[in-house]
Amino acid sequence: MIDLLDLHTHSIASGHAYNTLYEMARSASEKGLRLYGCSEHAPAMPGTCHLYYFSNLKVVPRILYGIPVMMGAELNITDFEGSVDLDDKMIRKLDYAIASIHIQCIARGTISDYTRAYVKAIENPDIQIIGHPDDSRLPVDYDTLAAAAKEHHTLLEVNTSSLSSVSVRVGARENYEKMLERCIHYGTSIIINSDAHVEADVGNHRAAHELLNATDFPEELVVNTSFEKAAAFLPKLKERLLKEPEAFLQGAQR
Ligand SMILES: [Zn+2]
Ligand SMILES: [Zn+2]
Repeated sequence: MIDLLDLHTHSIASGHAYNTLYEMARSASEKGLRLYGCSEHAPAMPGTCHLYYFSNLKVVPRILYGIPVMMGAELNITDFEGSVDLDDKMIRKLDYAIASIHIQCIARGTISDYTRAYVKAIENPDIQIIGHPDDSRLPVDYDTLAAAAKEHHTLLEVNTSSLSSVSVRVGARENYEKMLERCIHYGTSIIINSDAHVEADVGNHRAAHELLNATDFPEELVVNTSFEKAAAFLPKLKERLLKEPEAFLQGAQR
C-alpha cells in the first residue's frame, strides 16, 4: 500500500519526545514520506509547550527537506462533553487538529462517558482526526464511534505507537480489530499515524499495514494512499494542493 504521510508526531516541544522539529522532518523526508505533520501535545498535557508555541506556528517553513510540512496539534479531550484544551480561534489557525483522550487529562469514566466524549469531539467541525481511540483503560463503543465519524466526516486514527510492544495503552490490537470492522460496515475512513516521539519512529506504519492486511481492510478507506483522499478531510491540505501542487509533485519525483 502506498503511504504518503504521517500527521501525528511529536518533537522535543511536547516535553516527553526527543528530537527537534527539523530532525523529525528530515527523518520523514529521508524515509520517502511526501507530507510531514507535527502535532505537539496541547497545553493540558503535563510538561508540553506553552500556548504561545501554537500561536507562533506561522513562522515555521511549510517545506522542509524538500517535502511539505503541516503544523497541527494533538488536543486533549478534557471532559465527557468533548471539550478540548485550545480555544476555537487558535484551533482554526492550525493546519489540522487531532483530538485524543489521555488518561492523565480526563476524569475516570464509563464506556458511555468516553464514547460521548469522542462523539462530541467528532461533532466539532474544527477537529479532523480522532487520535488513538484504542485503549481498554478508556473503553469506547466502536459501533457508535465509527457511525459518528462517518456522519461528521472525521478520520479515525490507527496509531502504530499503540500497537508497539512498549506502548502504555492496553488492548490496541483487539480494539482496532473491532473498530476496523465497524469502519468497513459504515464506510468510515481512517488515517495511519506513527505518533512518533523519536525520529526513528517517523513514518513507521508497519504494524498498521499488517493489521489492515489481516483484517482485509479496504484501501479506499485509508487516506494515507492519496493526497486527494486526505484533502477531503483536511481543509488546509486541500487549500495547499490547489495553491502549490508542485510542492506535492516534487515529492513524487524524488
Ligand atoms: Zn506523547
Ligand atoms: Zn496521544
